[in-house]
Amino acid sequence: MTALQLQSQTTSKPNEFCITADLLIPGRGKPIHNACIIVKDTKITHVGPADDVLAHYSELPKTHVKVLMPGMWDCHVHLVGIHKIASDAFVQAHQSPVLSGARTARDCMLLLNAGFTSVREMAGYGIQLAEAIDEGSLVGPSIYSSNCIISPTGGHADIHTLHRPWFDDACAHGMPMALADGVPECLKVVRSQLRAGAKVIKICGSGGVGSELDNPIDQQFSDEEMKVMVEEAARARRVIGAHCHGKPGIMAALHAGVKTIEHGSYIDEEAADLMVEKGAILVATRTIIEIGLKLGKGILNPRGWEKMQTTAKAHWEALQIAIKKGVTLATGCDIPGSIPGSSIFTYGVNGQELHWLEKAGLSPLKAIEAATANGPLTLGPQAPKTGQLKEGFDADFIAVDENPLEDLKILADAEHVTHVWKLGTLYKSPRRPISSL
Ligand SMILES: [Zn+2]
Repeated sequence: MTALQLQSQTTSKPNEFCITADLLIPGRGKPIHNACIIVKDTKITHVGPADDVLAHYSELPKTHVKVLMPGMWDCHVHLVGIHKIASDAFVQAHQSPVLSGARTARDCMLLLNAGFTSVREMAGYGIQLAEAIDEGSLVGPSIYSSNCIISPTGGHADIHTLHRPWFDDACAHGMPMALADGVPECLKVVRSQLRAGAKVIKICGSGGVGSELDNPIDQQFSDEEMKVMVEEAARARRVIGAHCHGKPGIMAALHAGVKTIEHGSYIDEEAADLMVEKGAILVATRTIIEIGLKLGKGILNPRGWEKMQTTAKAHWEALQIAIKKGVTLATGCDIPGSIPGSSIFTYGVNGQELHWLEKAGLSPLKAIEAATANGPLTLGPQAPKTGQLKEGFDADFIAVDENPLEDLKILADAEHVTHVWKLGTLYKSPRRPISSL
């Protein structure tokens, strides 16, 4: 029986059950030993020590697991089905949306299989994929998408190697990128994303590594352009996430009121202090940088490889500074697709971001918080009530077969994820792995 069939069987009567765990990691706060969680339909109705509550719920179906924790969040994905690393990383994004969608269907399955019950998509086909997942046509996480990435002409999300009319034509046919220059166009482009169903707005605050001609250190949108986009998004209760490597773009984005800094490669002490003061969140995406370092040599052109190495070095220092200064972190990998057969450039290993955060100085418990409770914060007022094992929260949680507080690397290996529940429905168990669906 598939998870979807199981779901349709259980929708007719209240779905109430109990899970006991040797260890429960709540997402925020202290772990509980010998814990119990009660779920009714899509919500968590009780969390606590098993001894206190089991007697009241003796009639409920029970499952015992080793370690229970919230379903993880990847706060920076691109569901676009890109299959290779390139100096102009967006160049494949103009492939047919049908091909992208077909490739991405498997990526969605890999995410859920690896324990990721939610993703924030920072440009891609997530809005359409979310519709297919929510109606039951596809298996995957809950997706909160920005729709397009918004860039100034010549900026990080302009495809410099394409003739402009080709670029415009690809955008008109669904490629998830948009260009805007000047205040009126910036207002209009934000409204266009809202019209498409965006839950968050993604802009380019600086140049990039995977874009041919720009410099990661340079600021892109002007202070004024960023400010009006933040204000326009806020009127619709959306926040902005800004792609920012260089410090000028980071500072301008923070002063404009941007909620999340993506990458943050040149954060120094002053920038980290401003992030803390503004309550901004860093989505560092160390994973894609490590992938670039592993696979980029000889594939990227000399300028792209040079940018990759320089940015990677600065980024590692910046991440350590941000952690030391107490900047709020949320995990995000920036993976744009899965190369068949690759164990490096693929969805399903997204949990490795936690390992990188730990290596840069974050405690394992805080790294798990970055991958669970902090995920929804990156959506501001659009945040769903999930990411924590807490009464009244969505029943999105996973079980793992070893204690991740002793070895975070297990969260990067789907084999260790024994169970996945999303909105109270069991999608994966040892008897019924998702990959058999
Ligand atoms: Zn990205």
